[in-house]
Amino acid sequence: MKYVDEFRNPEAVARLVEAIRQRAAALPPRQHPWQLMEICGGHTHTIFRFGLDQLLPDNIEFIHGPGCPVCVLPQSVIDQAVALAQRPDTLLCSYGDAMRVPGHHGSLLQARADGARVQVIYSPRDALDMARRHPDTQVVFLAIGFETTAPATALAIRAAAREGLTNFCVLCHLVLIEPPLRALLADPDLRIDGFVGPGHVSLVTGNAPFEFIPAEHHKPVVISGFEPVDLLQSVLLLLEQLQQGQARIEIQYRRVATTQGNPGARAPVDDVFEPAPLAEWRGLGKLPRSGLQLRPGYQAFDATHLLPDSPAPGTLPTADSTTEADPRCRCAAVLSGKLKPGQCPLFGRECTPDTPLGALMVSSEGACAAWYQYRHQG
Ligand code: SF4
Repeated sequence: MKYVDEFRNPEAVARLVEAIRQRAAALPPRQHPWQLMEICGGHTHTIFRFGLDQLLPDNIEFIHGPGCPVCVLPQSVIDQAVALAQRPDTLLCSYGDAMRVPGHHGSLLQARADGARVQVIYSPRDALDMARRHPDTQVVFLAIGFETTAPATALAIRAAAREGLTNFCVLCHLVLIEPPLRALLADPDLRIDGFVGPGHVSLVTGNAPFEFIPAEHHKPVVISGFEPVDLLQSVLLLLEQLQQGQARIEIQYRRVATTQGNPGARAPVDDVFEPAPLAEWRGLGKLPRSGLQLRPGYQAFDATHLLPDSPAPGTLPTADSTTEADPRCRCAAVLSGKLKPGQCPLFGRECTPDTPLGALMVSSEGACAAWYQYRHQG
């Protein structure tokens, strides 16, 4: 299959691994490994699935970043979604990945088993169609994701506004990639030497959210595709920059990503949304201007108005999302690259894909789920 087989070619992988080995050997010696953070959960999945971390020399290490939208969903948003699903005459529409994320009082899947109306959908348009077909039902779309999913959500809201649909609204937890990266780079306990950037986010945003990394922190970024050869090429490009003492953004994923991104995809987002003063991230806490909220002209589509204790615009729920249900849970440390999944005391015991206690065990893009699926021996 074009664009797949050539990027999984074993000879190409072997050549890249040898080039990485030579490049890594030329790096200045130091006590701890050179740490490369793959920002995106899709990359984390590829790394574990193909064992790419095991192909790297000892002085190079992947650490896993916060770019999995399900993993950063705070429990309080799940609580809100469950509360909305339990309202009479209401249908809560969600991507399948979010169904099993545990809130303080259970997941959407459990709520559905208890009688709440919850529907798995594949795109915001599916939720919009539900609202069109069922005018007596209040349809709530749980909008999650980064800059990649925001355009489709914005287009659905604009269509609902155009059609005068009053039974469609959105529980919005759309987030932006730059603020969590700023938070990670401000953490003195983290030593990140370079970043593997998310190619699909760059497809929309271009280089803009990553420009501060070389400019303010003098660290290289390589925007990468999602196949093994993509990721290994990206590692090689990062090592070349590190060896030469350079720090700039390079695009490995040239078949998709561009420096400027896609202004046509950003336009509806800018029309419908504005940065919220504060948004909450599981594991990272509250980060300023890190999420999107509806602009005043689209407030009619804000599902939080349906909640009994509707929060003020720009503030996300009051429950402390950084507090996990089990105090032994180490989701926050894994999400910020400080721990490997297997170092959490719950991993593979109480917390498994069948019994997830943390969000990182729910999504296939979560570091714990990927580690469990491809690395855990039982
Ligand atoms: Fe969180 Fe479970 Fe991973 Fe521990 S094993 S960090 S509780 S998802």
